[in-house]
Amino acid sequence: MAPRIGVYVCHCGGNISEVVDIQKVMESLEGPVDVVQIKDHEHICSEVGQKLILNDIKENKLDRVVIAACSPQFQGITFMKTMEHAGLSPYVLEMANIREQCSWPHYDYPQEATKKAIDLTKMSLAKARLDIPLEKKVIPIGKRVLIIGGGIAGIQAALDLGDAGFQVYLVEKDPSIGGKMAQLSKTFPTEDCAACILSPKMADVPNNPNIKLMTSTEVKDISGYIGNYQVTVTRKALYVDPDKCTCCDKCVEACPVTVPNEYDEGLTTRKAIYLPSPIAVPHSYILDDKTCLGLFPLACSKCKEVCEPNAIDYDVYPTEEKFTVDTIIVATGFDIYDARQKRVYGLGKYENVFNALEMERMLAYAGEGKPLKDIGNRIAFIQCVGSRDEQVEHEYCSRVCCMYATKLACLLNRERPGKEIYIFYTDLRAYGKGFEEYYKRAQSEGIKYIRGRVAEILEDPKTKKLTLRAEDTLSRKIIESEFNTVVLSVGLIPNEGTRHVAGLLGLSRSQDGFLKEAHLKFRPVDTLIEGVFLAGTVQGPKDIPDSVAQAGAASSRAISLMNKGVYEAEPITAQIDESICIGCGMCADVCAYKAIEITVVDAHTGKKTAVVNEFLCKGCGTCAATCRSGAADVIGVSDHQISKMIEVM
Ligand code: FAD
Ligand code: SF4
Ligand code: SF4
Repeated sequence: MAPRIGVYVCHCGGNISEVVDIQKVMESLEGPVDVVQIKDHEHICSEVGQKLILNDIKENKLDRVVIAACSPQFQGITFMKTMEHAGLSPYVLEMANIREQCSWPHYDYPQEATKKAIDLTKMSLAKARLDIPLEKKVIPIGKRVLIIGGGIAGIQAALDLGDAGFQVYLVEKDPSIGGKMAQLSKTFPTEDCAACILSPKMADVPNNPNIKLMTSTEVKDISGYIGNYQVTVTRKALYVDPDKCTCCDKCVEACPVTVPNEYDEGLTTRKAIYLPSPIAVPHSYILDDKTCLGLFPLACSKCKEVCEPNAIDYDVYPTEEKFTVDTIIVATGFDIYDARQKRVYGLGKYENVFNALEMERMLAYAGEGKPLKDIGNRIAFIQCVGSRDEQVEHEYCSRVCCMYATKLACLLNRERPGKEIYIFYTDLRAYGKGFEEYYKRAQSEGIKYIRGRVAEILEDPKTKKLTLRAEDTLSRKIIESEFNTVVLSVGLIPNEGTRHVAGLLGLSRSQDGFLKEAHLKFRPVDTLIEGVFLAGTVQGPKDIPDSVAQAGAASSRAISLMNKGVYEAEPITAQIDESICIGCGMCADVCAYKAIEITVVDAHTGKKTAVVNEFLCKGCGTCAATCRSGAADVIGVSDHQISKMIEVM
């Protein structure tokens, strides 16, 4: 029986109709008996437009719909819902993109654009004729979430989900949660003490009965799909039992090994056995077996000898744990740009050049009345180090540096009167709530902002003072001035932990290397992998309020999925014709979602065939394009359909 197709051509309020001749497109479609009706509409996505489609389906018994309008990425879901309301499968809908792929790029060539719109619509019509009314696949989904990364974003997401009654596994690679925020002195623009606002949240994590906190832990493997992610983690041996450790510090006094302290960016030292930070959660000492004099065989054991509660045990090993979760939130954060790569600034070579995170730690100590170093009175900040810099392939703005430099400058200025502080900037960006006011306040307090890129810094080997050369791009004057200290406002970059997790989950990255969201505007915390969400700076540079807001958004997206109890998965997946498949495995090799396995189907003959896991398959079609035997195809976007579309064109 021939299908009954309804075609709708949208004007998109002039976006399409001012370029494409809608009447001509409609006329070109007339003729075939299966095209039951052709209509145009000013805004087919509007409520009125959707009602029109709904009524036509019912009254004219349509069983296929073609909409020539905008991109299906934009309104596809809206129209699929209309189809469902009308009692049809949403997979008998085709959209011809005559806006993004036609009227917008070809606005200077209306005649050619009209021809292209006709082609695109006819191609959709050809595909619609062969559409199968597919049904969505239903996957049961429970209430277990894995959160990877225990910075402020991961902590916030864990608390939101834990409080809502979901079972949370919070995995952090470092010995304590807190991330970079735990290293900050104060936070802009309100200048709250970072540790004071963060530590209560950190403490809430182990106190929440729904959160299983796993620090010093890394995700080794993740397989499966939404509602059934199988996770394997490796937990490092800590050698100190947190339940027995009383934090008496006697082991630290006894330990003969001194190494740079990561928490203080190497500005202070720690022992091989140590407390990760004063606000560490879990609040327990750990033994770093990489710097310890030796455990196998025992080379020292001084810490164990002095440990009264007998909390130290050298005879422990890394362990592996496996568990199943339904959804995943990736919150693995960022790293700071390694400014040693910008040799002209002399970081690591000149004694008085620091990066901003080092300055955060110095200010935190100064705030406690324990200054680490005299930094003198003349201080310069250099902005955009490793950001907005094509030379290092970081064209993006790191968004926080203008404000954290303003904050550090204000704090330094108030710390001891008589300082002269200059901020050398490219463009000053004070876009957030209270930022402009904060910047103005800094200026009124005497911080001097100079628009100009610093060309080089030279150190006087005797005095260790730094001469900085820059061009003031507003006054066009060359500045050459001496400073006691230079602070490099380093940009935010994607970190190694994120690369690892992205590899495990098959997540895409944007051009800047941060993880890519499903849609920048409408699905900013979703990924293209179902049930996997992003929170915080893992998706791109952002400040603490934005990281917290995004964590809240990611948890509510996860909650709304899990609360339904079932997940409806896309039925457009690969299928293998077993009679043709030779089991070569090329499809499995190219599948980015690990959705294909090669299995022996006949033990007698040893015949192998490819088997598609329809829950993992995303219907991308890579296997179909790769298979030389023609055994792999995609249901809903079959080779036959594509051939018909090409024929029509
Ligand atoms: P992070 O803080 O980076 O946390 C990510 C966590 O994930 C870390 O604990 C990390 O160990 C863990 N992790 C990474 N990989 C893995 C893995 N594979 N497995 C398990 N765990 C992993 N913002 C403000 O609003 N106000 C300020 O005053 C301010 N000052 C700043 C000053 C400086 C110098 C810098 C660099 C930034 C500043 N920021 C400020 C920005 C702020 O630091 C970030 O917004 C915030 O830290 C982002 O939190 P996050 O959780 O996304 O990432
Ligand atoms: Fe330090 Fe290792 Fe000796 Fe313990 S055994 S005191 S951690 S060197
Ligand atoms: Fe079978 Fe084709 Fe996959 Fe080879 S590439 S295993 S023939 S489906």
